[in-house]
Amino acid sequence: MSTLLISGGTILTSDDENSVIENGYVLVDGNIIVEVGSGQPMASNCDEVIDASGSLVCPGFINAHTHLCMIFGRSLGSDRSLLHWLSDSQLPLMRALETEDYALSMELGAIENIKAGNTTICEVFVSPHYADGVDEVSIASLDRTGIRSIFFRCSNDESFLDEAFLETRHNIIKRSERLIRHWKNNARTRVGIGPLVPWGASADAFEDAVQLSQENNVIMHLHTAETPEYNDLVRQRTGKSNVEMLADVGVLGDRTMLNHCVHLSDHDIGLIAETGSHVIHDPTSNMLLAAGVAPISKLRSAGINIGLACDGPSCNNTQDMIQVMKDAALLQKVVTLQPDALIAKDVFAMATRGGARAIGMGSSLGSIQTGFLADLILIDTQVPHLTPMHDPMATLVYSARGSDVQTVIIDGRIVMQDRHITTVDETEILVKARERAVRARQCAGL
Ligand SMILES: [Zn+2]
Repeated sequence: MSTLLISGGTILTSDDENSVIENGYVLVDGNIIVEVGSGQPMASNCDEVIDASGSLVCPGFINAHTHLCMIFGRSLGSDRSLLHWLSDSQLPLMRALETEDYALSMELGAIENIKAGNTTICEVFVSPHYADGVDEVSIASLDRTGIRSIFFRCSNDESFLDEAFLETRHNIIKRSERLIRHWKNNARTRVGIGPLVPWGASADAFEDAVQLSQENNVIMHLHTAETPEYNDLVRQRTGKSNVEMLADVGVLGDRTMLNHCVHLSDHDIGLIAETGSHVIHDPTSNMLLAAGVAPISKLRSAGINIGLACDGPSCNNTQDMIQVMKDAALLQKVVTLQPDALIAKDVFAMATRGGARAIGMGSSLGSIQTGFLADLILIDTQVPHLTPMHDPMATLVYSARGSDVQTVIIDGRIVMQDRHITTVDETEILVKARERAVRARQCAGL
């Protein structure tokens, strides 16, 4: 195993005490952090040394919900409500994409995430081209970039805004099992499952998903109570809220990630808390699509674990988790009129440990401590907008940007150095993505 030493930076550990180490070092052996401290380590001969003087060293961010499969739709159909934005622009564009476009979308999106310091992503994948094996091609493409990911293969069997996105229960099970089998021994690229939305899947399809999850030990993820329509659509069919219906079909539990959770009753919050389900918060997307404000203070008071997410590149419209941390904090302050409703260290914990817990990796990811996976980022603070730095945590959350991230290490491997991506050809991917996005838009008549 090769060793890597990062020395001289200010380390924001995101450990249980939220320790900050000035002039610290992190020693990595293979893909594991083996030593963290201040000053210099005992061992002096490392295979590679990174000088982190003047940098913040943080655990990589966990972007716990995105749709890289929709990246070609970035900036298309802006300023509409969620369901109109989907029906009028995004879904027609996705129909016009070909398999190679989805593969390219994964690469483009992974590069964008890495360049913003997001070392783990939850790709909530959906496509009308599952019959062409688009899921298999896409996950392989994502893996090639070196990013850590959970690829949630999502679909619905009963209703959606566009019929092309529906699959039979038989095909959902068969294709999900194939994907799970293929990737089961890969620790960095994992498969998850889930119906896409609670108003699109039958009770039987939910029960299939629960069974698949239990039999294969994979986690589940779905959109929940994002807009008022979400609850209305489910209530018309079942008389229940999103969360009540999910409780009925056995979906809630500590292996389930509920994304958005904006429109919840106190009863819903009680059900989420007592089942240990995880909530993922996407404040920037919620503002952009006018979805509403998630009751983060209430969820935190109920003891619910919360991760943070950008949501897709076409409904954020970037993959900048630093901006998302700031938006999360500001949004809670402005709606509660309480400056401490959500503070910098809370959102940092949500963007790191909270996300790790949500994907079942709370004891191995999302923190800089001995024995944890070496997913690390270096942020250059020697720039005007980060000067002076009286408080490193407040500087990170309220002043920094994703583009300040200089170096990214995932699973012990340097995947970006001085903003140069080392795993795939960024320039070639950008050129191709521009061409293919224009082609798809023309084909879709948009
Ligand atoms: Zn989403």
